[in-house]
Amino acid sequence: MEKRELGRTREKIPVVGMGTWEMGDVYNEGRVLELKALRRGIELGMTMIDTAEMYGQGSAEKLVGQAIKGMRDEVFIVTKVSPDHFGYDDVLSSCEASIRRLGVEHVDLYLLHWPAHIVPIEETMKAMEELVSRGKTRYIGVSNFSVAQTLKAREALPRSEIACNEVRYSLTHRAVESELIPFCEREKLTVIAYSPLDSGKIPSGKIPNSLLEKYGMTPAQLMLNWVTHKEAVVAIPKASRVEHVEEDAAAVGTRISGDDYEALSRVFG
Ligand code: NAP
Repeated sequence: MEKRELGRTREKIPVVGMGTWEMGDVYNEGRVLELKALRRGIELGMTMIDTAEMYGQGSAEKLVGQAIKGMRDEVFIVTKVSPDHFGYDDVLSSCEASIRRLGVEHVDLYLLHWPAHIVPIEETMKAMEELVSRGKTRYIGVSNFSVAQTLKAREALPRSEIACNEVRYSLTHRAVESELIPFCEREKLTVIAYSPLDSGKIPSGKIPNSLLEKYGMTPAQLMLNWVTHKEAVVAIPKASRVEHVEEDAAAVGTRISGDDYEALSRVFG
C-alpha cells in the first residue's frame, strides 16, 4: 500500500485507510463480518482506521479495539471529539474514554469532529495540546473546518501543528476543490477524504466504460484512485464486507494518467 506523509509530521500513512461509521452497531454475524473486514484491511496495508466517539455512541471504537487486538503497533488510529465536548475538561475526558474503548494507551491522531462556536477555539486547542503533552495523542487535526476556521484553530495552537482536515470529498462531492484543497496543499496539511464512495451511492452508470476497461478497475476502485490523485489527499472508505475491503485496497496499485484524471473530473464537474 502506497503511503503519504501526514501533514508536516514525517509520519507515513496509507493512501487508503478504513472508515467505521455505522460499524459496531450490529450483533452476532454482522459484527463478526465487520471484524473480519477490518482485520483483512489491516493485513492489506489499510492500517489507518478512522473512528469517532460519536459513532454508535462508542460502539465503533469498541469494535476497532477488538479488531486491533495484538496489532496495536501496526495501526494508526484516528478518532474524534464531538462538538458538545469542546470544553477543556470535556476534551480531556472524551479522549480518555476513547482510549479506554479502543483498549490502547494513546491514539495517533485526535480530531475536532466539527467546528463549534459554543466554546472558544483557544480553550479547546489548549486541551488538545495538553493531550499531546500527556502522550494521549501523537497528532492533532480538524474535520469539516473551512479555511478560515482552520487558520483560527492553527493560531490557537502555540506549540503544535494541525496535521489534517478531514472533509467530504469524492468524484460526486467536490466542494472542497476550490479553496480548501489548494490551501491544504500550500500549507502542507493532509486532506483526509471521507465518504470517498459517496456513502455507497457509486455512480456506476456515469463512469466511462472505456476507463474501467483500460485500467481493469471497478467503479469503486476508479473513484478511490481518482480521489487520491492529488498528493495531499488520502481516503478512508468504509467497508463491512471483506470483498469490498479487498477491492478498495487494490484501488491504488496503478495510477490513472493525468489526462484520464482530468477527463473523469469533467464527467462529474
Ligand atoms: P463511503 O466510504 O463513501 O461508502 C461506504 C459504502 O460503500 C458502504 O455501503 C460500503 O459497503 C460500500 N463500499 C465500500 N467498498 C465498496 C466497493 N469496493 N464496492 C462497492 N461498494 C463499496 O462512506 P462513509 O462511511 O460515509 O465514509 C467513509 C468514512 O469516513 C466513514 O466510515 C467515517 O469513518 C468517515 N466519515 C467522517 C465524517 C466526518 O464528519 N469526519 C463524516 C462521514 C464519514 P459495505 O459496508 O457493505 O461493505
